[in-house]
Amino acid sequence: MDGFVSIVREKAEGKGGYEGVVAYLREQLLSGELKTGDCLLPERELSARLGVSRQVLREALRALAMIGAVEIRHGVGTIVSRPDVSTLGEFFTFALAQQSEVIDDIMEARIAIEHHAIRLACRRAGQADFDRLAERLYDIVETIRDPEAGGHADFRFHEALVQAGGSPTLISLYSSIASLMMRSHLDRREQIIQVEGIREFLIDHHRKIFEAIVARDAGVADELLTRHFEIGADFRRQAGFRSAAANLRNSAPETNIIQGEQNADRDR
Ligand SMILES: [Zn+2]
Repeated sequence: MDGFVSIVREKAEGKGGYEGVVAYLREQLLSGELKTGDCLLPERELSARLGVSRQVLREALRALAMIGAVEIRHGVGTIVSRPDVSTLGEFFTFALAQQSEVIDDIMEARIAIEHHAIRLACRRAGQADFDRLAERLYDIVETIRDPEAGGHADFRFHEALVQAGGSPTLISLYSSIASLMMRSHLDRREQIIQVEGIREFLIDHHRKIFEAIVARDAGVADELLTRHFEIGADFRRQAGFRSAAANLRNSAPETNIIQGEQNADRDR
């Protein structure tokens, strides 16, 4: 019984102490008392000031180091650092990968970010953004027959679109879910690449989006993006019907003929 009580106490104290350390650092950063590159007080002083044991302090600092908020330099001390976006990306990956329907949910976030970014891009994009978008559009054309490279090029075009919006926060959010979106881009390409007319659509639609940004027409750009996502979803549905139909037909005796048909489609 005693053992149980002491474990509970230790846990509660540890959690409270940890939160105290995190809150302290957050407050100091927000108030400007501490800035990136500053050194925290020595361990002994800091633990006394925060009223936590040195062990709790050390654990809290290690946790903060893992998210990149501080850097522990042995023999120097604990330095305040700025977490980079890749940390956030990893966080999102772990958090979202444990949700079912993760790809659909990421699409929702992606749609929200891109819609605002494209409106900003119509106001803010400069020549470097236009050049980058043109380059990525060219890559889409070049890779149109390859689902993997094509999915990658498509993703890079949309990334350039968000970059052209010039909002560091939107860019950070977008790249923080990038690895998960990359998976969804590839999945979608593989699903839809067999659909009739898909290649022409992909090239033409990305070009129209590009032209609308260059013309700085936010209304048209936004409308095109809505269509882009809708048509993408339509193609995915068609691809779904198609593979369902193919599965049905494959279980029928005339399998060989159907396989032949599919190959002919793919070569078109
Ligand atoms: Zn696209």
